[in-house]
Amino acid sequence: MFFFNLFKKSDLECPRCLGKGFVDWEDIRRLNKQLKWVPAPCAYCNASGRTTPEILSKVPVDTTYLTIDLPESEIEKIKNADPETLEKGRQKELFVDNLILYALHHYQTKNMDAESIADLYLKTEEETALFSLERENLIQYIERVIELKKSELN
Ligand SMILES: [Zn+2]
Repeated sequence: MFFFNLFKKSDLECPRCLGKGFVDWEDIRRLNKQLKWVPAPCAYCNASGRTTPEILSKVPVDTTYLTIDLPESEIEKIKNADPETLEKGRQKELFVDNLILYALHHYQTKNMDAESIADLYLKTEEETALFSLERENLIQYIERVIELKKSELN
């Protein structure tokens, strides 16, 4: 890595991480991604804190699928608005959104806890589902969904 963090004068402060190069819980709350992201180096600006008008016009700052854990080639494809890659991202987000709705529905109308919801979900999961989750991860995730809902009600 170079001694200085050099950027062109035309570069702009990254609107996802506000120039920090790191997306923290505050950014996650601001962009309303509490159930989608965890704190990590910023994928939007590749942790540089700066971005260009070109990227800003091509990629929405809150593109959920664009996270640092993706392979570099995948990140490039998102930044080039590759239709297949964007569709993959949409499918993934749709899956998560449905899972959140499922968890909230069973929590709110049936008063079930995270573990029972996870077990019911895994029992009724369609064989054709595009994605699957480990039981432990699923329980933890549903707990987060419920926690967030509770905090919204307070
Ligand atoms: Zn950034």
